[in-house]
Amino acid sequence: MTNSATTDHAAQSPVWTAHRLVLKIGSTLLVDQTTGLVRRVWLDGLVEDISAARRRGQEVAVVTSGAVALGRRALGLGKQRLKLGEKQAAAAAGQIALVQAWQESLTAHGIAAAQVLLTLDDSENRRRYLNARNTFETLFRLGAVPVINENDTVATEELRFGDNDRLAARVAEMIAAEALVLFSDIDGLYTADPHIDETAVFVPEVRVLTSEIDAMAGTSASSYGSGGMVTKLRAARICMNASCRMAIASGHPLRPVQALNAGGRCTWFMPETERHPARKRWIGGALRAGGTLTVDDGAVIALRNGSSLLPSGVVALEGNFKAGETVLVCNRAGVVVARGLVAYAAHEAARILGRHTSEIATVLGYRGREELIHRDDLVLAPAREG
Ligand code: GLU
Repeated sequence: MTNSATTDHAAQSPVWTAHRLVLKIGSTLLVDQTTGLVRRVWLDGLVEDISAARRRGQEVAVVTSGAVALGRRALGLGKQRLKLGEKQAAAAAGQIALVQAWQESLTAHGIAAAQVLLTLDDSENRRRYLNARNTFETLFRLGAVPVINENDTVATEELRFGDNDRLAARVAEMIAAEALVLFSDIDGLYTADPHIDETAVFVPEVRVLTSEIDAMAGTSASSYGSGGMVTKLRAARICMNASCRMAIASGHPLRPVQALNAGGRCTWFMPETERHPARKRWIGGALRAGGTLTVDDGAVIALRNGSSLLPSGVVALEGNFKAGETVLVCNRAGVVVARGLVAYAAHEAARILGRHTSEIATVLGYRGREELIHRDDLVLAPAREG
């Protein structure tokens, strides 16, 4: 690979042009399957890449898996399937070894490493989300590289991301990164699982997440790639909604970012060009919804034309949501058409559902908001959600 070849490809690569870049590293890349230890030579190569990116003026954050894998060895847990409690214990022990390796490697390049452990709540609760975002801004201003993982030790089954693909997408959206690369042991999206289907064809670029694309991922969480393709497509949805480009790429080369910049194979998920304001990006990326509002066809058209959601267009609701919570808006076929912050709690919304705006005050006994979801609090689904 010559330098000029690197530069030619690089000029077009979102990895090269992104001002802010998030790199997600899968466990299989970082942790040696046989010894259970950190693959230091590989990590040092990646950190070389990070250092080079920073010299070009890029800000880089890493989302790193590997705590549970490293903790297995530290606690003598072997290779057996872990119960939640054991997984949390392994994460507690392994996280120390994980950040220590990152810190040593980054320090060798004169770069400060800053550990950030996030839970699902930190991204779903707006106040905590804004707080985390401020911390990231300060870390970038001070020249540190945030080294992020899920706080597996305290996360419970219902309240965890469970995969670092979506965590990385949420972080990319939170810090308004222009690109996220998911490095794992698979080099991109195929029309079917290439390990079992030899007719599977590589897909270099995706612009719309259709149901056909979803079908390519299969259904099993473990289908091709260690983290599974399903969570990677969910991450892509979050990124595309946040106008962040996302790549699925092989992390096997010793300098994986350089390999991408040199034209290495990967699948790019390219968002529509318009960037939503930050508040809308947060709503669109929410993973947890407090309930569902089913709307009639007229309301779907009105929403697509930029209107607010009025009670008159809602035919059913589900869930015990509070006022201000994120809810899904579905059409009669159950397809998600939007997400938004609902102005009324479920018990009040149920009373005004289907009613004309002029009736709200009489039904509720007070003058509430006219809209169930105001258009400023509403984000249309970027594509069909399955
Ligand atoms: N947070 C987990 C760990 O560090 C990994 C989750 C994932 O690989 O997606 O072990």
